[in-house]
Amino acid sequence: MADHIDMLAVLGHPIRHSLSPVMHGAAIAALNLAAVYTAVDLPPEHLAQGLQAVRVLGYRGANLTIPHKERALQWLDDCSESALRIGAVNTIVRSGDLLFGDNTDGRGWARSISEELGITLSGTVACIVGAGGAARAIADVLLASGAEQLILCNRDVNRAELLALALKRQYPRSDVRSCSLAELRTEGVDLLVNSTPVGMYGHSEGHMPIAAELLHGSMVVSDLVYRPRRTALLSAAQQAGAAVHEGIGMLVWQGALAFEQWFGVSAPVAVMKEAALTRLEQ
Ligand code: NAP
Repeated sequence: MADHIDMLAVLGHPIRHSLSPVMHGAAIAALNLAAVYTAVDLPPEHLAQGLQAVRVLGYRGANLTIPHKERALQWLDDCSESALRIGAVNTIVRSGDLLFGDNTDGRGWARSISEELGITLSGTVACIVGAGGAARAIADVLLASGAEQLILCNRDVNRAELLALALKRQYPRSDVRSCSLAELRTEGVDLLVNSTPVGMYGHSEGHMPIAAELLHGSMVVSDLVYRPRRTALLSAAQQAGAAVHEGIGMLVWQGALAFEQWFGVSAPVAVMKEAALTRLEQ
């Protein structure tokens, strides 16, 4: 029996459907680490106390999910430049009395798409459909990786315009444009990312965020929705001859990058993916 057990948790509200405990639990078991990862249902009004508990109870770290990612920043001692640019934290690492925040969502997505499809993001013409929190993380990693052009397309075009302005302040030499769903054109687009919930189980399964005519064989289509694994958008993209990238990859890699920060060892990514997929199929 180990004399010290590292404690970790994902804090969110609601938290019942989080796949993080099964993914991290499987990784901890595979590497035979003395650690426990649990899910904590933390209402937003208790976030400050929840973070203080991570600190004083000596947790090794934590993940944050909806609705805590943005508000947590004010109670952390330090954070990564990318978390600051994105304005959201999904990973906390405790060191002594200090809490450090990072955001592995964008890097996790980038790692997943490059590992699975072997593509480089530098020089791509990318289009993100959606302008919420996930879009911000993907836009940041695309521009940090040297994307040539980024088109932000959103149902509420004002939100896409605001995000484009914020990104241009952070990346002054970047070519960032915005448009409404009705205005979207995809000639010349190499990479299309769906960061809306359209197509998700229990929300709008079977629906697509854009018209099938906008999909073509010279693009990669990445859907952040992972329930179902193969969305209507990805099926239509495959039919159009596009390469497809499933949302489960981002989920697994954002977790793997957090795991590596807590434990300082390579995460068993295949084990984590298998655990997440098994839970999704139940
Ligand atoms: P969010 O901040 O709430 O943003 C949602 C975005 O989707 C907004 O731009 C919204 O447009 C748009 N949208 C919502 N319903 C729509 C509809 N019916 N038609 C067109 N657009 C619609 O959410 P988020 O955190 O960015 O997450 C977005 C999606 O990504 C979710 O499905 C989430 O599960 C998924 N996600 C996956 C991963 C992963 O690891 N694979 C990670 C993070 C997020 P308006 O601005 O017009 O409202």
